[in-house]
Amino acid sequence: MEKIAILALQGAFAEHEQMLQGLGVETVLVRNLGDWNKALHIGGDGGGLRGLVIPGGESTAMMRIMKDEGLSGPIREAILGGLPVLGTCAGLIMLDGGHLGTMDIRVRRNAYGRQLGSFNTVGDFKGVGEVPMTFIRAPYIESAGDGVEVLSVVDGHIVAARQGNQLVTAFHPELDGDSRIHEYFLSMMGRI
Ligand code: GLN
Repeated sequence: MEKIAILALQGAFAEHEQMLQGLGVETVLVRNLGDWNKALHIGGDGGGLRGLVIPGGESTAMMRIMKDEGLSGPIREAILGGLPVLGTCAGLIMLDGGHLGTMDIRVRRNAYGRQLGSFNTVGDFKGVGEVPMTFIRAPYIESAGDGVEVLSVVDGHIVAARQGNQLVTAFHPELDGDSRIHEYFLSMMGRI
């Protein structure tokens, strides 16, 4: 069975946990380096760690805690080594050039201003179809390199993309009771 680690330093990790467990996936919460090392070595049964979710929250706080816990280097290495990762909202920001820098994207934080700080819409997601999208003080992707596949554009802004093993959404797919984005993430495993 797939085992997926969820970074649980702060933010909306419990909702990802519920969503993945609902899909029959075993999850491990990572709060510190000890948890991460344990997660990397699970699966003496041959299962092994298959992916990582970096949830929404507050990217400045998350980055600070990640550094304090000594997690940023090891997580960066694992992602660059091909571990599938799903970054949502603040989790998307964590992968950009100013943070972990594993993805060739430039992100604008809190991109929708105060009035449109939070909103719901329905948008097309390449390969999946129309999905509900909840944005909460969300970023969008301002520019993406050649190796990045744009998966969703809302109001002219990139809100979901993939670069190899890395999948990011500016919205919160864990909040709308629709598991298709998580299923898309699961489908990336074993094919990379
Ligand atoms: N505004 C947050 C940030 O800049 C992201 C919000 C979210 O993850 N819902 O980190």
